[in-house]
Order: sequence, then structure tokens, then C-alpha cells
Amino acid sequence: MYDVNKVRTDFPILSVEAHPGVPLVYLDSAASSQKPAAVIDAMNAYYRGYNANVHRGIHRLSEDATNAYEGARQRISKFINSPDPCQVIFVRNATEAFNLVAYSWGRTNISAGDEILLTEMEHHANLVPWQLLAEETGATLRFVPFLEDGTLDLSDLSNLLNERTKLFSFTAVSNVFGTINPAKQLIEAAREVGAVTMVDAAQAVPHMPVDVQELDPDFLAFSSHKMCGPTGIGVLYGGRDLLEEMPPFMGGGDMIRRVTLEGSTWNDLPWKFEAGTPSIAEVIGLGAAVDYLSQLGMDQVLEHEQFITNYALEALSEVKGLKVIGPAPSQKGGVAAFTLEGAHPHDIAELLDESGIAVRAGHHCAMPLHHKLGLTATARASFYIHTTTEEVDKLVQGLNRVRQVFRL
Ligand code: PLP
Repeated sequence: MYDVNKVRTDFPILSVEAHPGVPLVYLDSAASSQKPAAVIDAMNAYYRGYNANVHRGIHRLSEDATNAYEGARQRISKFINSPDPCQVIFVRNATEAFNLVAYSWGRTNISAGDEILLTEMEHHANLVPWQLLAEETGATLRFVPFLEDGTLDLSDLSNLLNERTKLFSFTAVSNVFGTINPAKQLIEAAREVGAVTMVDAAQAVPHMPVDVQELDPDFLAFSSHKMCGPTGIGVLYGGRDLLEEMPPFMGGGDMIRRVTLEGSTWNDLPWKFEAGTPSIAEVIGLGAAVDYLSQLGMDQVLEHEQFITNYALEALSEVKGLKVIGPAPSQKGGVAAFTLEGAHPHDIAELLDESGIAVRAGHHCAMPLHHKLGLTATARASFYIHTTTEEVDKLVQGLNRVRQVFRL
């Protein structure tokens, strides 16, 4: 039985006051999650007990650091069921994973006349790198549209995916609508025309079981800071053959096998893509986050989030003038982006903050999505493993206070 109150005791920050005498209600995990003590302690233990560079030293501290760093990679690999840890490349965040693929794979495989297929609901991280690539190569970007309910319109997919499509990159879960897209179906359709696939799993890996062997994408990206881990670290998973063929993204230490003044040869996977001293403490922190989530069980995590999202959507539907964008709860992850007639999202967020409630307001790095809806911004509450029904009730009370302040 999932015990949300016990989970809450794992997060030191949840007993911090947002303002003097006002408890924190943290409803912004989709932007960045809070960290359990196990993650903070693991990073602390590294800095206090065995801080040293990895892969280089012969001394004990360096060996301990290397074992912890590579051990974390093995557990992260297992967490997404990667066939081999060498297919788990450490990057700074999901954004860097997209840039790595656009630079390394894209610049060797994409040329004028080729098409790159995206969707209209992408985060800028899965849009701007492809815009840069298209500009440089003369390739064309095409988009799967979304319908009014925030689900993808797949009626024209067989046209959008064609022999010119070299890459189909899409989000598994929208960070605004919350839509859980049919990732497996989309990957299979892309494969039929020989297109390479990339999945933005930044809002999926933290919230539900993700098995890369079952899903079988060519590339998949996610960020540590949205899944109880630290900032500054993320993962690019890739198919082994593709990663082997790709040239390095950045050059420098660690990514080489042999260097002469005339030229260099490259290290094996995954280090070929990890130039320079890596984010050691952060990788160890992400390893601890993965242990923490595994011990909760990702099925239980998903179940709790579905329960709380259903509860929240029901409760929010009682707030007059409030409209949640996105699909029905059955197709939705733990985010509720909304508008409240007569109140600007930034004012909503500011007034909620006075009650200790942290939500996000803005375009959530999805400007084209908002533009299509005729909106410049929405407010977004997002839920995670520690969210309670009482917190959702406080959100509803806070929103009713916003209505009073604005005399709506
Ligand atoms: N993709 C989605 C769906 C996201 O929600 C985010 C972060 O908000 C990103 C990509 C980018 O993540 P990061 O800023 O950690 O690179």
C-alpha cells in the first residue's frame, strides 16, 4: 500500500515553511522535483568521504569515485532496462541530449530535402536544436498537429511519415497538456519508413515505468532533476550501432583512446561522448534517485499520480471560470495547466505563493503550443510522489481566493 505520508518524510524540504508560518505546498515538480534525503546524503558522502576525479587516478579515492560513478550508470541503465550500460550517456540535461543527437547524428545523416518530423506540443528542447539543424542543412521540419483536447491528430501520419522522413522526435508525455502519447505506436510507424526515432522522456521516466527494450526507440532523453535527482545531469540513451557510428559531440579528455599532434582516435562507448571531467557527484546523486524510485516501485508511483491527478481534475472543475487544458484523466500524466477567466497566470501564481503554494506560470517552454491555443501563458500545477489530496484542496482554496481578490 502506497503511503504518501511516509514518502513525505523522505523529503526534508517538505517541512520547510514557504513564508513564516505558511507551510509549503510544492506543486511544481514538472519544472524540477524536490530531492529525498537519500539523494542529498549520497552526494554529501561523496564530497565528504571520497571526492576525487574518475577514470584517471590509481589512488583509493579515485577508485572509489570511479566505482560509484560507473556503478550509478549500471543502476540507471537497469532502471530503463537498457541492454547495456554503455548505451547510457551522461549529459547535462535532456536539452543537451537533443543537441548532442542534432549535432553528432544530425550533421552526418541529414541533408537538403530531408524531413524531420516533430509534433506541435514539443518543449523547446525538442524543437530548437532541430531548427538549427534544418537551417544549416536545408532540411524541412514538419509537425504532427494536436487536436483541441491536447491529443495528437494522427489522421495524416501516413503522409507526414514518408520516405523523406529521416527522424521522428516526439515527447512521450507533454509538459503542458500532460498527454501521454502512444510512443510505441509512433516508433513502429516511423520504423516502417526507415526513420530514426527520438523520444523526449523528460516527463515520462520520472513518473512511470519506461522500458527502452520494450519501447525500442533509437534515442531517448531525460533529466535527473525532474526525477528526485540533482540538476546538471541527464541521460541520452541510444541504440548501440547508431552510437558507435556517430562522431563525438565534444572533444577533450576522457573521450579519446590515443592522441598525437596530428590527430586522435576515440574511446569506447559511453566515454566517447563524455568529454572532460564529468558531473561526478550528480551522477552519484542520480544513482541514489533511481534507487529511491525503484524502491517505491514505478508502478506505484504511476498509480499514485493517476489517483492524485484524477482527484485534482475533479476538484479544479468546481472552480468557476477555470479551464484545464489537455485530455481526459485516462490519457494524462500529473500536470494540470489552466486558465482562470479574468486573472493573468502570473497574478494567479503570485497570489497562490502568498498561501505557500508553488505553481508555475508562463509558456512552460512550449510557446508554439500556447500560440496555437491563442494563449501567451497558462498556470500549471504539477503533482508527484509526495502530493496529497489536502494539498490539492489548498490549491482549490487558493484559487477561490484569487477569484475573490479579482472579484470574479
Ligand atoms: N522536455 C520536456 C517535456 C520537459 O518538460 C523539459 C523540462 O521542462 C525538457 C524537455 C527539458 O529539460 P531540461 O531543461 O532539464 O533539459
